[in-house]
Amino acid sequence: MPGEPNLTIESDPRSDDLVQPFRIDPFALRGRLVRLGPTVDRILSQHDYPEPVAAILGEAIALAVVLAGALKYDGIFTLQTKSDGPVRLIVADVSTEGAVRGYAQYDSARLGEAMMQPGQSPSVPELIGSGYIAFTVDQGENTERYQGIVELIGGNLAECAQHYFRQSEQIQAGIKLSAARSGADGAWRAGGLMLQRVPPEGGYTVIADDVEDGWRRAMVLMSSATPAELVDAELTPRRLLFRLFHDEGVRVYRTHPLEARCRCSRERIVRILRAFPAEDIEDMRKDEVTTVTCEFCNTRYEFAPEEFAPAESA
Ligand SMILES: [Zn+2]
Repeated sequence: MPGEPNLTIESDPRSDDLVQPFRIDPFALRGRLVRLGPTVDRILSQHDYPEPVAAILGEAIALAVVLAGALKYDGIFTLQTKSDGPVRLIVADVSTEGAVRGYAQYDSARLGEAMMQPGQSPSVPELIGSGYIAFTVDQGENTERYQGIVELIGGNLAECAQHYFRQSEQIQAGIKLSAARSGADGAWRAGGLMLQRVPPEGGYTVIADDVEDGWRRAMVLMSSATPAELVDAELTPRRLLFRLFHDEGVRVYRTHPLEARCRCSRERIVRILRAFPAEDIEDMRKDEVTTVTCEFCNTRYEFAPEEFAPAESA
C-alpha cells in the first residue's frame, strides 16, 4: 500500500493484547483500536462459560479497555452491568498498567434460548435484558470515585455505550466491538474500536462543514470494519486503521500493552475474611478448611481456621 510507512510514527511489532491510539487531526478525531488475543482467551478460559456468555464478556472486556483509554486516570477503571436477563452480572476492569480481568454471572437454565447469530454481536436484550451499565474510576484511597451509570439501551454493548455517551457525557463517539473464537486453535479473541470528537483548543484547521463531513465520513468508514476484521490475528492494528482511515490522514501513536492479571491474593482475602462480623468468623472457624474462590480468575484459596482469627488475636 503506497504511503503507509509515512503514517507509522514508530515500528511496533506487537499486534496483540494492546491499545493502539490514533488521531485524525484535520477533523479533530481521536480514537483507539483495542486488540485482545491471549489476554482475553486466558480470562474466558478460566471459567467454563457457555459460548454466548463468553462472547458477551469478551466484548465487555474490549469495551472496558477502549473506554479506559479515553480517560486520564491512575488506578482502576471498572465496567459493570446488572440486569434481569440470563446474564445478570458482568464485571470487567482494567488498571492503568494494562492489567485486565473480568467475569460474568449467569443462569444456565435461562440461557437456553439465547442464541448467537453468526457474525453478529451478542444481543443485549436477549442475554443481559433490562438493567444498567455503570463505569467507575477508582484512583485509590482518599480520592473521589467517579461513577457514570445509565440504563442499558441498545441491541449490543457498543450501542449501550454510545447511549451512555449521548446521555451523560455529551461526547460524540462511535464504538465497535467484536469477540469470537478465531484461528485454527479456536482461541478467543476480542477487538474494540472507538472514535470520538475532541474539539481542538485552537479551533479546527478546516472549515466547519468539512469537520461535519469528516466526522460523518469517519463514522461510515468505522462502521465498515467487520466483526471478523476486528479480531483478525493476521490483520495488524495499524493495517486495519490504515485501511479504514488512510484518506482521512490517520496517525498512530505509541501502543499500550495489556495482559490478563488478577489482583487477588491470600493476604487480600484474609483481610476480607477478618472484616466479617465476629459470629460469621466463628461459624467459618468451625470448618476445618474455608475455601474462597476468586470470581475473576477462579483461583481457589484454602484457609485453616487460625489464618483468619478475629482481629484482636491477630
Ligand atoms: Zn483472582
